[in-house]
Amino acid sequence: MKIRIRDIVSGGLRIDHTVKAQEIDLVEEEFIDPDSALRVVADLQKVNNFVLAKIRVTFVAENHCARCLERLSRETQMDLEIDFEFDPGEEWLDLGSRVREELLMGVLPRALCREDCKGLCQGCGVDLNTEPCECKAPHKAGQDNKE
Ligand SMILES: [Zn+2]
Ligand SMILES: [Zn+2]
Repeated sequence: MKIRIRDIVSGGLRIDHTVKAQEIDLVEEEFIDPDSALRVVADLQKVNNFVLAKIRVTFVAENHCARCLERLSRETQMDLEIDFEFDPGEEWLDLGSRVREELLMGVLPRALCREDCKGLCQGCGVDLNTEPCECKAPHKAGQDNKE
């Protein structure tokens, strides 16, 4: 996902690209399927030798419930603001690699499988949504697991 710097005119440039995660080298990350699509909408402004980018990335995040650890696939948006410095002779801006870096550093929002997820028993570990607890441990329903 390379942008030609001279295409960023004085009024700015808006791009709207959809790429597969693997096309920007997101191939082995737990939070995204390499075959899934990422939509990248960016507003780019050129100021002196900087490109200022406001970017919204939409993708299906592979996450798990913060309480019962069930796997979840959910559409997620991340808003990024990235400044790129460029040299006078530089022609291309590699937006994809910077988006990739930001996603690798970013933290997925906390997710719950459902608002009233009962979570796992602190004593025996059963999923209290699907099984009754057989142990005598006092549970605190609705308390989050701290990994
Ligand atoms: Zn859950
Ligand atoms: Zn239990």
